[in-house]
Amino acid sequence: MPTSKKVEPKKAAGTEEGAAPKKGAQPIQTTRGMRDILPIDQPHWQRIAEVFQAMARDYGFERIDTPMVEDASLFVRGVGKVTDIVEKELFQWETPGGEHVALRPENTASIVRAYVQHGMLNQPQPVRLWYKGPFFRYDRPQAGRFRQFFQGGFEVLGEADAVIDAQLILISYNILRELGLDPIVKVNSLGTPESRANYKNALVAFFRSKKNKLTEDDKKRLLKNPLRLLDSKEEHMQELKAEAPQIVDWLDEESKTHFMRVLEYLDEAQVPYQLDPYLVRGLDYYTKTVFEWFAASDDQELAQAALGGGGRYDGLTELLGGRPTPAAGFALGLDRVVSRLKDLHPNTTTQVRKVDVFLAQLGEVARKKALVLFEEFRKAGIPVGEAFAKASMKGQMEAANKHGAKWAIIIGQKEVMDGTAILRDMDAGTQEIVDIKKAVHEVKKKLGHISPQA
Ligand code: AMP
Repeated sequence: MPTSKKVEPKKAAGTEEGAAPKKGAQPIQTTRGMRDILPIDQPHWQRIAEVFQAMARDYGFERIDTPMVEDASLFVRGVGKVTDIVEKELFQWETPGGEHVALRPENTASIVRAYVQHGMLNQPQPVRLWYKGPFFRYDRPQAGRFRQFFQGGFEVLGEADAVIDAQLILISYNILRELGLDPIVKVNSLGTPESRANYKNALVAFFRSKKNKLTEDDKKRLLKNPLRLLDSKEEHMQELKAEAPQIVDWLDEESKTHFMRVLEYLDEAQVPYQLDPYLVRGLDYYTKTVFEWFAASDDQELAQAALGGGGRYDGLTELLGGRPTPAAGFALGLDRVVSRLKDLHPNTTTQVRKVDVFLAQLGEVARKKALVLFEEFRKAGIPVGEAFAKASMKGQMEAANKHGAKWAIIIGQKEVMDGTAILRDMDAGTQEIVDIKKAVHEVKKKLGHISPQA
């Protein structure tokens, strides 16, 4: 997205400055690529949150939240200048104070910034952090692509050993399995920056020799970021790729051993993987191991869209001004995970809240009493329901049944005068009069929270 200078807010149709919208004005909708997550889908998001929290606890990761707005140069330097994310997809603007800021398109660069900024290098290493939140890319919206999307991820900073790469793959595997998916991970190694540079040269030489088969876009990529040619899903590129040099043949000895060890650990942990020599990922900071998660879907387009990915980024801390620190991590795209969960569980409904007691009232004064009594039940930790806006007893009793209330407290005009309330057993249909001041106490007794003699 080009940097916006000064953007005048669009006026909704039929509105004048300072005037109320005219009746019949166009309703305002979400902007392109943005969407609401409605209550019906919240159980899936809730489940994901629980699984992330449980994994973080089990593997000893601590939560970190970084701001949604960062200095744009963090991503230009961190993610890479000639990546799609920075070139085309960054939501960025100039603040009135003249700062060039951007909405975060991913979290690794921010986490590394936080690691350096807060001196986490001085803590016992490795530092294990996890996060979950919204990210922003000014992408062309399509199946599985939004401008605001959610990622959850785990990062390990301060450890170079291959076992960390494998453990991160194992954790992401366990998250997806725990959610009921049947995922497969594609893995590759990009080696050190030096071996990658050598490979890049070989790749450029190869594609130059095939120039007549390249599109204009391919040629641009060849100049700017030749590795991205391997990402191409286009037909003509598949044949070319099959003949192209493969990065494994260009890996230095250390990267090769590292990669072999990652694969051995995965075998040992029985994580199913596929070697993919063309997997390069769209971000510049990766070194050595890279991986991406996929899972089958009825929707062809979705099946090809990765559920998440990650890898090692040993050079990023130094690139962002810190001391050299090896690190690795992954992020799962939660919107895409949710779409799979919806495939698996299509009949999710919003749950009606279950309550133990329901407060019904007749008349204005009784409603005031019930409003206050509600607070007493709530503070006592007893799930309580109400339909204060309803006036009829029939409507309120229907609501009590809908919420599964075993007990109802009914306050009418007479009860207000007497300082009492009717306590009704909703199943038996029997009722008794209780002192309104003791209503919470009586319900507690009925629920067995305290003994009947108390
Ligand atoms: P990346 O690090 O760019 O590969 O992103 C990790 C994961 O986030 C991807 O595999 C997707 O699942 C998800 N993701 C990335 N961009 C978007 C987007 N625009 N909309 C929805 N999900 C996305």
